[in-house]
Amino acid sequence: MQELKVQETVANPYESMLARFWQAADILNLNDRARRILSVPERIFIAYIPIVMDDGRTEVFEGYRVVHSRALGPSKGGIRYAPQVDLDEVKALAAWMTWKCGVVSLPYGGAKGGIKCEPYNMSAAELERLTRAYTVAMAEVFGPDTDIPAPDMGTNPQVMAWIVDEYQKLNGKKFIPAVVTGKPLEMGGSLGRVAATGRGVMHTGLLTLSKMGLKPSDCTVAVQGFGNVGSYAAELLSHKGLKVVAISDRFGGLYNEKGIRMGDAIKYVKEHGSLEGYKDGDKITNEELLTLNVDVLVPAAVENVITAANAANIKAKLIIEGANGPTAAEADAILEDKGIVVVPDILANAGGVIVSYFEWVQNRRGHYYTEEEVNSRADNQIERAFMEVYDTAQIHKISLRKAAYVVGIRRVATALQLHGKYYS
Ligand code: NAD
Repeated sequence: MQELKVQETVANPYESMLARFWQAADILNLNDRARRILSVPERIFIAYIPIVMDDGRTEVFEGYRVVHSRALGPSKGGIRYAPQVDLDEVKALAAWMTWKCGVVSLPYGGAKGGIKCEPYNMSAAELERLTRAYTVAMAEVFGPDTDIPAPDMGTNPQVMAWIVDEYQKLNGKKFIPAVVTGKPLEMGGSLGRVAATGRGVMHTGLLTLSKMGLKPSDCTVAVQGFGNVGSYAAELLSHKGLKVVAISDRFGGLYNEKGIRMGDAIKYVKEHGSLEGYKDGDKITNEELLTLNVDVLVPAAVENVITAANAANIKAKLIIEGANGPTAAEADAILEDKGIVVVPDILANAGGVIVSYFEWVQNRRGHYYTEEEVNSRADNQIERAFMEVYDTAQIHKISLRKAAYVVGIRRVATALQLHGKYYS
């Protein structure tokens, strides 16, 4: 069969996702039915959301929710507020959530949401109106047993709290905190959730360094993106002895060969909203950061920053993908040929969804864990997943990325088979 072909040159994130899916499908010898079902999303919801802005104008925002798969359980995935959000991006992010939940053995399918907007230029009141209207538009999709959102780029615990509040109004005033994760603690959030993704980046990075025979204290690291994932990853890696020599955000980056003081940088961003104007080093561009002479590179911002155009110039020995989809599929072979080890997004940044799962479990049980319990459960779960991926890579003599896709897709395809012929 197979009329659907592997794309050679891809920049579109959905094509990047599919290129890796076909590779893993071939390694797994996946049947035709599973290929057809898993290569497309199950459902796509699009809403045009009118909002009265603070100046009285009405703007109409485009909002999406893509449910890629519910074979393993209710669909799970963040909501992104960013100007470049489009359907193909959200479709790719939803599929990555499916494979990610499969890789780390969570009882969840994959979904993702997004609104095309510029959150940094909107007031809190405008963001609240937009979030509430999006929740109303997606009310029939969201639910603790059907589809559970979380934060992603441009959204945060406050946005999740507005979703809980609006969802409560739509559901007979019932408090249903398990409808979203990544909430503030006072609204049923989990200890350890804000740092969880960065912690997973740090943990999978250290496990890989040890397999590579590299000592953390001998390593320098550059981190692109200094938001939730990048800032915690950078700080936690520095606590483990790595020297963070470069960081960046959407305004550009900083390089300091002596090491950037993490505590000061994080404090500055808390006070000023970004790294703009922070002076602890020389100015560099985001593009320059990627090709610095460092041991470890952590892309933790947006998709497609490592492409066929710059992959050959990357000098890091290890890339830990904090962001979703930072490497275009076209760059995989170039990195592999150079012997650069890549901890793929669907494993490296899975710490967030693991602790989101713990948050959902705690909400449903009404019993809350200490931060130590959350961290140690999350560390164990991501370590087990890492070992399974690492062993799969060794057995098949394939990259960690291919192995992670194999592990994730295998689990999802098995569940799909168990659902039977009439799955819909
Ligand atoms: P965030 O909004 O908290 O931070 C994003 C950071 O990236 C900011 O510092 C921003 O200035 C910077 N940035 C934006 N565009 C950039 C560009 N073009 N070049 C360089 N920097 C840029 O977002 P986040 O939650 O940290 O998410 C970052 C990435 O991690 C995304 O790919 C997201 O999907 C992924 N991720 C997030 C989580 C989570 O729990 N938050 C979990 C898994 C994966």
